[in-house]
Amino acid sequence: MTSPPSKSHGRKTITATLKPRELVQHQPALKGAWIARIITLFPDAFPGVLGESLTGKALKEGLWRLETTDLRRFGEGKHRNVDDTPSGGGAGMVLRADVLGQAIEHTQKPVKTKQPLIYLSPRGKPFTQAMAQEWSESDGLTMICGRFEGIDERIIDYYDIQEVSLGDFVLTGGEIAAIALIDATVRLIPRVLGNHASIEDESFSHGLLEHPQYTRPSVWNDLPIPEILLSGHHGKIADWRKQQAERLTKERRPDLWRAYCETHNIEPDEDQEQ
Ligand code: SAH
Repeated sequence: MTSPPSKSHGRKTITATLKPRELVQHQPALKGAWIARIITLFPDAFPGVLGESLTGKALKEGLWRLETTDLRRFGEGKHRNVDDTPSGGGAGMVLRADVLGQAIEHTQKPVKTKQPLIYLSPRGKPFTQAMAQEWSESDGLTMICGRFEGIDERIIDYYDIQEVSLGDFVLTGGEIAAIALIDATVRLIPRVLGNHASIEDESFSHGLLEHPQYTRPSVWNDLPIPEILLSGHHGKIADWRKQQAERLTKERRPDLWRAYCETHNIEPDEDQEQ
């Protein structure tokens, strides 16, 4: 088979390739499907919540696939040790380079195209919607979930790994971060969300936070829905939503607001509300 054509998520032939244990079971293997490969000590954490709702439906339909590599399998000795004490002393344990290296080689063996290799890490580049968009257009990602104090630095250098952070806080392990990253990315693959228009409007897609949303009942606890939204006047509603999105972004995220103003030739201190 030659390399698959550039990104196409169309439904293609189904080949039955269920490798025991490695794959999350009952996934149809569709040619060209986006693949998340995850190296983890806790393969049972997947698909977790990714198996629910729209991402779960897309997984079952084969629009994307999930493959876990159990790091423990590559552990040393009778106890399959994967970690050791930090060189130079200090608290905690570090995932060993030799063990992780073997797991990476094993996981990457079937990967034929250049795909991002990511280590979820609080030291990494903060994850953004733009990264999710870019990766949703790739063939897939390989993610390493750290545990304890993290992983041996030589692994990061040797494999030219991108470190990606979910935010300025410390989790116990990379699994929750990987699930969040996959969720944000997979929902941007065409046909995963039923209604693609909902992506175009949402937070970050135009550099703004999303406008407030309302639904029935029209009055709740004496609080009415803003009248304009019930007017049926689409032009005015669009203007109102844009104003609200700009107001919220300006109030809450000065960093995003400045970037938005630069690209739209707006004076950052200008009052957007008329
Ligand atoms: N000692 C490390 C933290 C280790 S936390 C430090 O101070 O930087 C254990 C593992 O959890 C990490 O290896 C990483 O894979 C994951 N993790 C923790 N916080 C994270 C975050 N904000 N984003 C992504 N992954 C994170």
